Amino acid sequence: MSDAAASPHTPMMQQYLRLKADHADKLLFYRMGDFYELFYDDAERAAKLLDITLTSRGASAGVPIKMAGVPYHAVEQYLAKLVKLGVSVAICEQIGDPATAKGPVERKVMRVVTPGTLTDAALLDDKRDNILLCINRVRDTLGVAWLSLASGRFAVSETAWSNLEGELERLRPAEILAPESMDNAQSKITEISERSKVPLRRVPPWQFDIDAARRNLCAQFGTHDLSGFGAEQMTVALGAANALLDYVKSTQGAAVAHLLALTVEQSGEWVRMDPATRRNLELTETLRGEPAPTLLSLLDHCATSMGSRLLRHAIHHPLTDRTVLRARHGAVGELLQTRHHEKLHSLLRTFVDVERITSRIALKTARPRDLSGLRDTLSQLPAAQAIISGCASARLAAINGALTLRVDVAATLAAAIQPEPSSVLREGGVIADGFDAELDELRAIQTNCGEFLLALETREKARTGISTLKVEYNRVHGFYIEVSRAQSDNVPDDYRRRQTLKNAERYITPELKTFEDKALSAQDRALAREKLLYEKLLNDLALHVPALQLVSSALAELDLLATFAERAAALDWNAPEFGDDHGIDIDAGRHPVVQAQVDQYIPNDARISPARQMLLITGPNMGGKSTYMRQVAIIVLLAHCGSFVPAARARIGPVDQIFTRIGAADDLAGGRSTFMVEMTEAAYILHHATPKSLVLMDEIGRGTSTYDGLALAGAIARHLVEKNRCYTLFATHYFELTALAVRFREVANVHFDAVEHKDHIVFLHSVEEGPANQSYGLQVAQLAGVPSSVIRAARRNLLALEEKASAAGPQRDLFSAAGHAAAASAAAEPETPVEHPIVGELRAVDPDALTPRGALELLYQLHQRLDK
Ligand code: ADP
Repeated sequence: MSDAAASPHTPMMQQYLRLKADHADKLLFYRMGDFYELFYDDAERAAKLLDITLTSRGASAGVPIKMAGVPYHAVEQYLAKLVKLGVSVAICEQIGDPATAKGPVERKVMRVVTPGTLTDAALLDDKRDNILLCINRVRDTLGVAWLSLASGRFAVSETAWSNLEGELERLRPAEILAPESMDNAQSKITEISERSKVPLRRVPPWQFDIDAARRNLCAQFGTHDLSGFGAEQMTVALGAANALLDYVKSTQGAAVAHLLALTVEQSGEWVRMDPATRRNLELTETLRGEPAPTLLSLLDHCATSMGSRLLRHAIHHPLTDRTVLRARHGAVGELLQTRHHEKLHSLLRTFVDVERITSRIALKTARPRDLSGLRDTLSQLPAAQAIISGCASARLAAINGALTLRVDVAATLAAAIQPEPSSVLREGGVIADGFDAELDELRAIQTNCGEFLLALETREKARTGISTLKVEYNRVHGFYIEVSRAQSDNVPDDYRRRQTLKNAERYITPELKTFEDKALSAQDRALAREKLLYEKLLNDLALHVPALQLVSSALAELDLLATFAERAAALDWNAPEFGDDHGIDIDAGRHPVVQAQVDQYIPNDARISPARQMLLITGPNMGGKSTYMRQVAIIVLLAHCGSFVPAARARIGPVDQIFTRIGAADDLAGGRSTFMVEMTEAAYILHHATPKSLVLMDEIGRGTSTYDGLALAGAIARHLVEKNRCYTLFATHYFELTALAVRFREVANVHFDAVEHKDHIVFLHSVEEGPANQSYGLQVAQLAGVPSSVIRAARRNLLALEEKASAAGPQRDLFSAAGHAAAASAAAEPETPVEHPIVGELRAVDPDALTPRGALELLYQLHQRLDK
């Protein structure tokens, strides 16, 4: 007895279960007629995720089959929803002919849709790359391979394992692959995946084998070895690249012919930023995780999605190569001066996404309208070239060159595709007339149909004498001759009844039947012919994939440069200069995102040099300290993206990394308190900042008690000045730290002020030399309307504290060698003062549980008792 016969399941369920076994971790969409059905647990899961009805139908092996389904024509919207939720789907189609099948129709999983391997326009966000990333670890080396399948970019890098989080933050993958066993790394990657809600898939370890990797990668790229890519020496990353390639092939059910090159990323290529910096500077997402207002939302006036994606990438990958950057600045300057950016943008706005369409051509999934769009765009390339052809900039000249296709693909497409093709191939009307003689002939039969029928009608009217006779066609009954009921007795003998209606009879004649066979088969044959021609066209186009990839990257860069020019014009930005000397020198800098939100932005200078390596920034809350620090970082970053900068002038010395320690963010999901986050970030900076690094420290030490905080902030500042020797902007509410400027020549005090104007406080937002006025806190409190008795009491408290501090003598000087140790020990073991009874009461109060009014009342009570 065969297995099938022994199985308690129906033959169809046996087929289903066999297919499902190969895709246990995905939802299986099983095609049945006009629906994709899901069964058993998949049905339950899909019903919940997609909000579709769970039913059950019949039983197999004595158990009712739970079932849920989605109509095939609406499948894209369901897939989009699932993929957003991080769920992968295997799509199983009927491939056999239901008419001839014995038992269930033959079915096969034709494609697998996973969050990281999307290429379908309906499922992708066109403004960002969708990245699949694979990691590998050998000892302390992290190997990373990443791929944007929709654009064909494939890259590898090797770095220290400790950079794992940084790499993930830089690339923001949609899906992560990792070897099945990664020892203690296992928990790390799992934790990151869970926290960031990026699906993680485990891959068998043998796929990371280096010899197999070399062989497979060479076969993919058609090369003898990998030295042309500079990847020959790599091992860990190549293992990852191999596992990634394997996975992608398995999802596509087709070759990934457009993956033609491997980029080796070197960490020194970019100004490095740690994950906290990318978040704190709100580059592409606000701290709340929203897409605007951010640096990207401000800049993204790109005309094409290719440009938008490149811009997003550029912001996260500021370059260190000054030759490239100067070339970009030169191009932006020239576009701006000639105002060519305007013409370019209005032209580029009509362009399609050449990059993604090229990938779909390679994957053989390009749709008719992809091709007509590509045809129109390619035929406009000379217009784009004409705009920039007279430019002197070397970068624009290079782009101009890259926009020339050696083979006229636009002409091929124009010859092959209808001016306005239908959106799906199965409807026909895609291949142009005159492209293929056989297709033309088949189409002619259909077009001539109308003439033939008219002629037939005239002839039959004459023959039968029935003047109301009509020859017509409908999809269900085909061709027929319609005669009214009253006249039906007068029809000739060769009329065969086809259908009886209330008032009419419909007939067919042998002549009409012969014609019908010919016409209907011509239609079928024309459709089949179009399908064949279309496949052949895709195959022919596939040869031009490398050339089209060059065109798309040139278009993306052109759009980026035009966008930089447009933004510079609209926002009054200027070209930055790169200096070889250490330092960052900015005249009238602005924070572009804050500027877009306030009525009047006060521009500020920044002077950082070896003599002023650290700016210690004091001033009231809301004074503008954070904004000032971020503005310096953003100007530096923009300069390294090739953009102009929001400043009257900016001269920037060598910069290798940007670090920020800003704001008090609890990482509750990661199980770390505010203070722990603060110290983890500070520790990272102290370990990694070099003299070329720009470090922003905002209110360090705030997360703990005053003494601890002050002691730590002082020691951290000192380490940054003496050991890291980096460019530092250090904003602090510890006034004591301003003494650093006395002790260290490299430290300068700057401050922000607030003044009283009529009944309210005005923050000047203008950076001034020197430390802030120490009493600003009380001033601001007074201006804010805190009762004068409270202010008076606060003033007395302040006086007492200051007297006590000065009595403590040298301990106040945190930055003399002895004072440093003393402060540390004071922090560790504060002397035990004799407590006022009120202190005990205060201790029992939970400030968080008090209403503002309750707090004020308590303050009055305590104050009265103090006076007693
Ligand atoms: P701080 O860090 O000193 O508490 P912020 O930098 O957060 O202050 O600034 C507070 C607010 O002041 C900002 O949100 C912005 O609205 C405004 N602001 C800051 N700097 C400027 C400036 N240079 N010009 C105009 N408004 C500013």
